[in-house]
Amino acid sequence: MLFAHDTEVSLAAAAALINTIDVLDPSDERLPDVAALDRFIEHWGYTGTRERTEAELQAVRALRPRLRRIWEVDEDEVVRIVNGLLSEANALPQLVKHDEWNYHLHATPPAAPLATRLAVEAAMAIVDVVRSGELSRLRRCESPTCDDVVVDLSKNRSKRYCDGGCGNRAAVAAYRARRSQRLSD
Ligand SMILES: [Zn+2]
Ligand SMILES: [Zn+2]
Repeated sequence: MLFAHDTEVSLAAAAALINTIDVLDPSDERLPDVAALDRFIEHWGYTGTRERTEAELQAVRALRPRLRRIWEVDEDEVVRIVNGLLSEANALPQLVKHDEWNYHLHATPPAAPLATRLAVEAAMAIVDVVRSGELSRLRRCESPTCDDVVVDLSKNRSKRYCDGGCGNRAAVAAYRARRSQRLSD
C-alpha cells in the first residue's frame, strides 16, 4: 500500500467528487439534487451531520473546482490551496475510530458543515501525497475527450485512464485501428 488506507480512500473520494461535474460539458451534472448528494455521501461512507438543503448541495458543488485545481497546478500552488483549506476550516487533526474503521484521522468535528468536512478530508490526504513526494500520481485521464481526474495508486504508476470506461474505449479503438490496418494491408 502506497499511503495509509484512509488517505487512499479519501483521494479516491475526492477524485470522484471532482468527477461529478464534466468541465467540458457542464450540463453533465452528476450532483443535480440533494438525493444525488445523499447517494454520493452514502457510497463513500462519509459520517457526520447533514443538512440535506440546497445550500449544502451548492457548497459541495462549489468545492469541486477548488479541489480540481490541486490536480492541475505545481507543488507550491498545491501547498497554498491545501494550507488554505485547512486554515479556513480551523482543522484540528484527531485520531478517531468509528463504524468498521480502525483509527484514522478526522480533522473536523462531526458537526462541521459537510462541504468543510469534505474539503478537510481531501486536504489531509493531499498532505500525505505532498509529504511523500507523490504528486505525480494525481493526473488527468489521458482520453482526449475526457477531463476526469485520476489517482494512480498502482505499483508501477501505470494508470492512464479514469474508471469511467476510457481505458476500455481506448483499447477497443486501438484494436479496431490494428484490425483495419491489417485488412487494408
Ligand atoms: Zn472517519
Ligand atoms: Zn476518462
